[in-house]
Amino acid sequence: MTQEVLEGKRKIEGQIPERRPEPEELERRREGAKKQAAISTGLTVWRCKVCGYLAAREKPPRECPICKASADRFELFSF
Ligand SMILES: [Zn+2]
Repeated sequence: MTQEVLEGKRKIEGQIPERRPEPEELERRREGAKKQAAISTGLTVWRCKVCGYLAAREKPPRECPICKASADRFELFSF
């Protein structure tokens, strides 16, 4: 029994140097950091309710460059 535990422990310890972040994992972390940056800069996105045009700015445009809808046709767009 004791022997088995020791064997098991040695196996687990042996796996530790093998642990390193996978490229996928690194990519996911980078994406997460990007998202965090967007939140901390307070990026606001406005969506034209008429044509679906998206404008990333603090305030909605005076009129939609696509369909010329006025600013009150814009709504806050959340991701
Ligand atoms: Zn529009």
